Amino acid sequence: MIDSARLHLPAFAPGSVWLVGAGPGDPGLLSALALHALARADAVVYDALVDPRIVELARPEAILEPAGKRGGRPSPRQPDISARLIRLAQGGARVLRLKGGDPCVFGRGGEEALALAEAGIPFRIVPGITAGIGGLAYAGIPVTHRDIASAVTFVTGHDRAGAVPDAVDWDAIARGSPVIVLYMALPHLAHIAARLVTAGRPPSEPVAIVSKATTAAQRVLVSTLAEAAEAAAAARIEAPTIIVIGEVVRLRPALDWLGGAAQEPR
Ligand code: SAH
Repeated sequence: MIDSARLHLPAFAPGSVWLVGAGPGDPGLLSALALHALARADAVVYDALVDPRIVELARPEAILEPAGKRGGRPSPRQPDISARLIRLAQGGARVLRLKGGDPCVFGRGGEEALALAEAGIPFRIVPGITAGIGGLAYAGIPVTHRDIASAVTFVTGHDRAGAVPDAVDWDAIARGSPVIVLYMALPHLAHIAARLVTAGRPPSEPVAIVSKATTAAQRVLVSTLAEAAEAAAAARIEAPTIIVIGEVVRLRPALDWLGGAAQEPR
């Protein structure tokens, strides 16, 4: 068990909400604050992306509530999730809101925190390891490297309506960001890759697609901008996937510390 006094962990006050990042999957990537919250929460409201092995770490008396898509049912609306958190906290519970990766990276942590702030509910944000960094580390791909890439951009490949986001300036990213990490982008990869090539990125630029990163089912597909979308379809790569475009992908053969545990589909 973790020593909360020596780690200077704060009390989890009844009537408060902790918005906690659970990391990309591997339970070993949980923070001490996340473990502390799991051991004390009265209610755990968790997203579909949170690894089941992590939800199981909640104390046995805790109420467990899935808040994401489950078994094909549509996800609850965001205002409903925020309202649920507020109601639980107003009832005096210690509420743990568990999210995959980092709560504030494409995770609506900001929206939920704003709703809590407006309702006057005390809250804490506990960062987690985001898939776009931790998932790549498990594929042997450093997200920056002094000689290769001094900037990285994290982009969503998906807007509210599920389309390629118009608000993203793909030309500016293509010009200014040697490494591009795409979340929620697999369905639109062909479109996004073509846009980046039109904006000047070489069709031969390496791309890695990491599926189910940091879990036992992790798969990594290495391809090129020109071919990645087709290669992913041919290899039947499954969501969730994190996609990285950039020369840092070439470091993977030397840095694939996970080795045989991650299958190479081609
Ligand atoms: N807050 C999360 C991201 C939520 S958006 C984070 O910080 O990681 C959901 C997207 O995250 C997925 O579509 C996928 O692109 C990525 N993702 C999350 N977990 C992943 C995993 N284990 N493997 C690969 N991609 C993952």
